[in-house]
Amino acid sequence: MIAIGVPAEGKDEPRIGLTPETVKKLVKAGAKVTVRSGAGLRSHFSDQEYTDAGAAIAKNDADAVADADVVFTVRRPPLALAKAMKKGAALIGMLDPFSDAEGLDALAKTGVSLFAMELMPRITRAQSMDVLSSQSNLAGYKAVVDASAAFERALPMMMTAAGTVPAARVFIMGVGVAGLQAIATARRLGAIVTATDVRPAVKEQVASLGAKFVAVEDEEFKQAETAGGYAKEMSDEYKKKQAALIADHVKNQDIVITTALIPGRPAPKLISKAMIESMKPGSVIVDLAAERGGNTELTKPGEIAEHKGVRIFGLLNLPGQVPVNASSLYARNLQAFIEPFIDKEKKTLAIDWDDELAKGTAIARDGAIVNAMVAERLGAKAGGAAKADPKPARATRAPTKTAPAKSVANGKAKAPAKRNGVKRQPKGGKTP
Ligand code: NAD
Repeated sequence: MIAIGVPAEGKDEPRIGLTPETVKKLVKAGAKVTVRSGAGLRSHFSDQEYTDAGAAIAKNDADAVADADVVFTVRRPPLALAKAMKKGAALIGMLDPFSDAEGLDALAKTGVSLFAMELMPRITRAQSMDVLSSQSNLAGYKAVVDASAAFERALPMMMTAAGTVPAARVFIMGVGVAGLQAIATARRLGAIVTATDVRPAVKEQVASLGAKFVAVEDEEFKQAETAGGYAKEMSDEYKKKQAALIADHVKNQDIVITTALIPGRPAPKLISKAMIESMKPGSVIVDLAAERGGNTELTKPGEIAEHKGVRIFGLLNLPGQVPVNASSLYARNLQAFIEPFIDKEKKTLAIDWDDELAKGTAIARDGAIVNAMVAERLGAKAGGAAKADPKPARATRAPTKTAPAKSVANGKAKAPAKRNGVKRQPKGGKTP
């Protein structure tokens, strides 16, 4: 019988890897689930609910994972947790694969198999396992709710006997998963919504949500999407034209939500200090790209900055502020990922290492890093025989290659000398 363990998360993480709902389904599929006592409380799931769903409760993390074949976490856990696991067991979570090379290598060396959910290939079959989407969607919602709570005026137009309250103007920059939900939420609240992106495919989606698309639509813009559906770094000339257009637009906005990201690169700076100074006092910016440096020049990651009456929210882990929904969706992503790897007859763990999804997300097996992209990037950080790589950094979510098992710490991994440690974050959070 496959055993699944769920430890508690660290103090900054209110989400949890499994919910009572998903425990019930996994128990039905033949799993034995053990949850650390109190681990679900910050998402409002009690030990009793887990017990009712069929889980056993362990009094500490080590007990929760000791016999597990699979351990589900939200974030990368401390080394001690991996050491408490069985060799060869699978540790599955948002493991932040491109930061803290030494920490990741140490986790790998415990002999635990590591799977980073952020690396899930974006193919149709994996949609139900896409943690970046499930968490970004909530971040987009929460960004608008936070902005409207901080904005000291109403969002919808109200016609009253005492006069008319004008509708607020909300501008969404970056229309991926988070941006689309931000548009939908702002529209529901009655705001006049505009949005921009560098990918032409987005124009129609923006219109279908009742918002207006604002962008420099030149030849470069028409080619700006990668085959994988992500944004490309734009030329300096395009950036200049775009900045002029945005500067003119931003000064009339009440709320700006920024979500612009380019895989493998720091967040593009889209809002300058001068643009912020052109906004009316009381305007609010929520920067969902704060984790990757921010889309504005004045974003302070983890803080609310204020400049000339304009507040810039750089808060992290927005999905963690909607933990009940975020945990529910995240747990369903994990359940969808693991179920195909449960042998239907023997009810044991049977990972198909040749499966595209296992290959895409596996970063360590039998004590070594097995993902080429991670090995390259971590090799550079670990001070290995780094070689300059003329190619630009690749999308972190591109299907990944597997490399021959090789320890990153042995310094032999070929790596670009100065790549950014890419942190694809469960958006809005020191997670995603
Ligand atoms: P993301 O988080 O990588 O980036 C957010 C948005 O910022 C993107 O729309 C990007 O184009 C935009 N952006 C980048 N630079 C910009 C700039 N200079 N100015 C304005 N906007 C800029 O994006 P995401 O939310 O991960 O979504 C990326 C794409 O992947 C979308 O098309 C989405 O629909 C698609 N997707 C596919 C699947 C699947 O399973 N097939 C799942 C989820 C998302």
